[in-house]
Amino acid sequence: MTTTFTDEVRKRLECPVCYETRRNRPVFHCANGHLVCADCHEKVFTCPQCRTAMTVSARCLLAEDLIARLPVKCANWERGCGFESAADKDISAHAGRCRFRTVQCPHLTCRQTVLMADVVAHLKKEHCATVADKHGDSVVQLKFQPFLEEDSKVWAPVIIALKGATFVGVLSKSKKVYYTWVHALATNDDGGDVGARQEVEIALRGDRSTVSSVVSPMSMEDFRPEMMDDSDQILTFTNRQARQSLRRGASGKREILKIAYRLAGSESKREAPTRFEGDTYVDVQSCSSEEPGQFV
Ligand SMILES: [Zn+2]
Ligand SMILES: [Zn+2]
Ligand SMILES: [Zn+2]
Ligand SMILES: [Zn+2]
Repeated sequence: MTTTFTDEVRKRLECPVCYETRRNRPVFHCANGHLVCADCHEKVFTCPQCRTAMTVSARCLLAEDLIARLPVKCANWERGCGFESAADKDISAHAGRCRFRTVQCPHLTCRQTVLMADVVAHLKKEHCATVADKHGDSVVQLKFQPFLEEDSKVWAPVIIALKGATFVGVLSKSKKVYYTWVHALATNDDGGDVGARQEVEIALRGDRSTVSSVVSPMSMEDFRPEMMDDSDQILTFTNRQARQSLRRGASGKREILKIAYRLAGSESKREAPTRFEGDTYVDVQSCSSEEPGQFV
């Protein structure tokens, strides 16, 4: 890595005791001009560099001013994030969507802590995630096994790409109620989780009935299974609704749950809320080894 002038300045402004450059805090210097931060200044009696008595120290306004102007690095820079910002508020906005932050794995039976940038790879490797990103991008339609007889079940997660925003689609069943929602995924460094600011229409599409809802993506950081019963970010449907909406599978039997996802936006406002174009469905595969329904 090349050292920039900013890195050089930052190095010179570092406190020689704690190696920090703290913004909005006084910086002191000894009679010979050596710096020490306010916290360490309280603890040292002599200059850490030249040993002159700190009783004659004074604040160094130039150092304080330069530190305030240093770009702030993302807290995740050691994990690979190159984002830095001139203002504290920009860095805190970035922190919430940084690709290098850690999040909980969105698969309900896992909940491991994963780097946001690694979520897709993790879901594919550990949870047999299906990737649905090749169907015109405006609508993604998925076929799920209904598992009508089971009380609870967790399906393999689905990676859903919709017009440049990427989501994880989750379908699970608990006490005979189906729950489906989406999480937004970070797709690039600057835009962060583009989809987090979008709304997604989720629809259980049957021959005879459709259940649908427009939801905002669920946060991967804050999600708890207890939220499933009381969240407007989740589409729920009952066993009975699932049975009523069953569609014909390859064998000709009515045996497939079809769920469609699309961005809700200006375009969809002009259409009837449950009209979806196209009839291309992606089969959601399941891990044969996966145990159904054990939420952790
Ligand atoms: Zn210090
Ligand atoms: Zn000194
Ligand atoms: Zn970052
Ligand atoms: Zn996982």
